[in-house]
Amino acid sequence: MGLKVYLNGKLVDSSQAQVSIYDHGLLYGDGVFEGIRSYDGLIFQLAEHVDRLYESAHTIMLKIPLSQKEMARAVVDTLRANRLKNAYIRLVVTRGVGDLGLDPRKCDKPTVFIITDKIVLYPERIYKEGLAIVTVPTPRNLPEALNPQIKSLNYLNNILAKIEAINAGAEEALMLSAHGYVAECTGENLFIVRHGTLLTPPAHAGILKGITRGCVIQLAVKAKIPAREEMLTRHDLYNAQECFLTGTAAEIAPVVQIDGRRIGAGSPGPVTLKLMGDFKKLTKTAGVKY
Ligand code: PMP
Repeated sequence: MGLKVYLNGKLVDSSQAQVSIYDHGLLYGDGVFEGIRSYDGLIFQLAEHVDRLYESAHTIMLKIPLSQKEMARAVVDTLRANRLKNAYIRLVVTRGVGDLGLDPRKCDKPTVFIITDKIVLYPERIYKEGLAIVTVPTPRNLPEALNPQIKSLNYLNNILAKIEAINAGAEEALMLSAHGYVAECTGENLFIVRHGTLLTPPAHAGILKGITRGCVIQLAVKAKIPAREEMLTRHDLYNAQECFLTGTAAEIAPVVQIDGRRIGAGSPGPVTLKLMGDFKKLTKTAGVKY
């Protein structure tokens, strides 16, 4: 028996979980999703992730056929069915089955599924030694055209950037805004430390305001590390003392090289290590028990 997944109100074996080829999530990327983690039987930032899912859905006028409470309950039920204590949880809501046109009115029932599994984004050594990243040619989507706060199933902008990074021999891509400012990586937000201050691009740089990003800013405030949002250039990054990425899947990943320039001492710096430690503690103490 494989993993159980939640699909449209039922827990089914993952090998039996099927979605139609007429589903607009598949045909057009018309849908929204979330990635959540659980640590030692605690779901980290569950309410924040569920809120963001419903906000994304509201913006694209997709009515999720469950209340937020029912959705949170479905996450707990799926985790329990798989007896997973440390999991990566993927929540997906698509427009549902329609015809071959775009018209969402033809889709009368959204498809909802929840996968609880594992994820390993980068090899373990990355967290000790740090990542080398490269700026890629594909800019982040124009936020005026497609607001990055909508966590939609359309990730080609980020996938193209990932391909470009891989082609250049790097694990991760630094994506710039169309104006050439630092935006984010393919599924992570970016921070630098400059003379003891933590800096990260603001939302209007065209980024997703990550939940991990928010946690890290709060942890910095608690640790009395000055933190603020600022538009950043590649020059700012190259000359930073430290750099790291944040995301649900990646957690906190140190960056030690950008476009061939060594960052700081070329190894994870003290502020990064402090925040990694504090973040780990937070994940083990805060969360929804299941
Ligand atoms: N940026 C993008 C484009 C992402 O897809 C993600 C992952 N959801 C993030 C940043 C990090 O967000 P979070 O910390 O909420 O996982």
